[in-house]
Amino acid sequence: MFENLSERLGGVFDRLTKQGALSEEDVATALREVRVALLEADVSLPVARDFVKAVQEKATGQAVTKSITPGQQVVKIVHDALIDVLKGEGEPGALKIDNPPAPILMVGLQGSGKTTTTAKLAKRLTDRDGKRVLMASLDVNRPAAMEQLAILGMQIGVDTLPIVKGEDPVAIAKRAKTQAGLGGYDVYMLDTAGRLHIDEELIAQAAAVRDVANPRETLLVVDGLTGQDAVNVATEFDDKIGVSGVVLTRMDGDGRGGAALSMRAVTGKPIKFVGLGEKMDAIETFEPERIAGRILGMGDIVALVEKAQETLEIEQTERMMKRMTKGQFNMNDLKMQLEQMLKMGGMEGMMGMMPGMGKMAKQVEAAGFDDSILKRQIALIQSMTKKERANPALLQASRKKRIAAGAGLEVSELNKLLKMQRQMGDMMKKMGRMGKGGMLKQAMK
Ligand code: GDP
Repeated sequence: MFENLSERLGGVFDRLTKQGALSEEDVATALREVRVALLEADVSLPVARDFVKAVQEKATGQAVTKSITPGQQVVKIVHDALIDVLKGEGEPGALKIDNPPAPILMVGLQGSGKTTTTAKLAKRLTDRDGKRVLMASLDVNRPAAMEQLAILGMQIGVDTLPIVKGEDPVAIAKRAKTQAGLGGYDVYMLDTAGRLHIDEELIAQAAAVRDVANPRETLLVVDGLTGQDAVNVATEFDDKIGVSGVVLTRMDGDGRGGAALSMRAVTGKPIKFVGLGEKMDAIETFEPERIAGRILGMGDIVALVEKAQETLEIEQTERMMKRMTKGQFNMNDLKMQLEQMLKMGGMEGMMGMMPGMGKMAKQVEAAGFDDSILKRQIALIQSMTKKERANPALLQASRKKRIAAGAGLEVSELNKLLKMQRQMGDMMKKMGRMGKGGMLKQAMK
């Protein structure tokens, strides 16, 4: 149905593979394709436009990795940027439900999956979080809806407020509050009436209920398949009632997830959960990674992104290994090693990972050897010129002084670093001389 984004980009970028960095023009070409993909995924035009602009700035000038195509690289950049937009603050799926009984107001259009979602969330809170939950339907216009909630409650073993004929929504909300307090419930959920469209009466009713219940969370349930409409609905509900989070339903369908992006970009509201089917446990916390993959139209996007990250490291490591077998080890190699150590959690982290070294990690810490040393050493190397890094023997006393001063350090620290590099270089030479059967050559096979 849709052309895969990586396929689209593949052609555009084939000719670029030999260049060192992503040029402005090439990025622009690729991002035109990205924009089409976003629109096909139901992202609204202004959102797609803004998004692409932000990515363009980020992507231009990035170094091209050898083993993935520049097209794939742009996809990775786009993927990461999508996650940035989709991600809300705080723990995904977290609800403010301290101070029992905590009211949760459920709002949304009829048919969005509001009643189903109310029951799914009640079940989740009960089963996973051990909460006692009371549900109440306020849909006085549709007795069938009230019964539906009662039946779902019985199925999942969650209490519902008994139905009293002729009661209005505000009265039901008050009764739910009292009942929740008396019955020792942690949470009570108010399933408000839905309409096919937003109208004044619907909003007035929801607002009146909100005012008596004072909800800790007002969750808007929207059909994820309705794309742009979903965003309009969310904007209106948020303006008129105030929404604390969104639940996107029908994400098990073949929608492409663009609504999620527009929703976040336009309303700024966190998407807390997604509905993934009709069954009572078909609800999950919202995962930006998954939706990003879906918007880009590739199931294996995560694998691709991981590969891109790994490739960069593997390429660097391979290059270093090759040099090492020849007995070469300059400041660039040392810098890479120091950076890798930092990434693995520094000295302490690395030792903590090795069996039996936990105690030593503490000693290292006590001796004052921490990550700041690694960072200082990296800073020193960064202050050197390209030539000096490749051949540190070139460094004269005056340059040493300058470099140390540039990094805000003593020359003695630089001398230590130089000694370390020489010693490691000597070690590499010895290992390289071990010939065909040498350790490094074995390791490279
Ligand atoms: P309400 O009018 O908003 O309360 O909507 P309902 O909760 O009655 O849901 C309407 C229909 O959508 C029902 O048949 C539900 O089973 C179905 N539904 C709700 N959520 C989902 C979902 O996440 N995925 C799918 N496939 N169906 C859903």
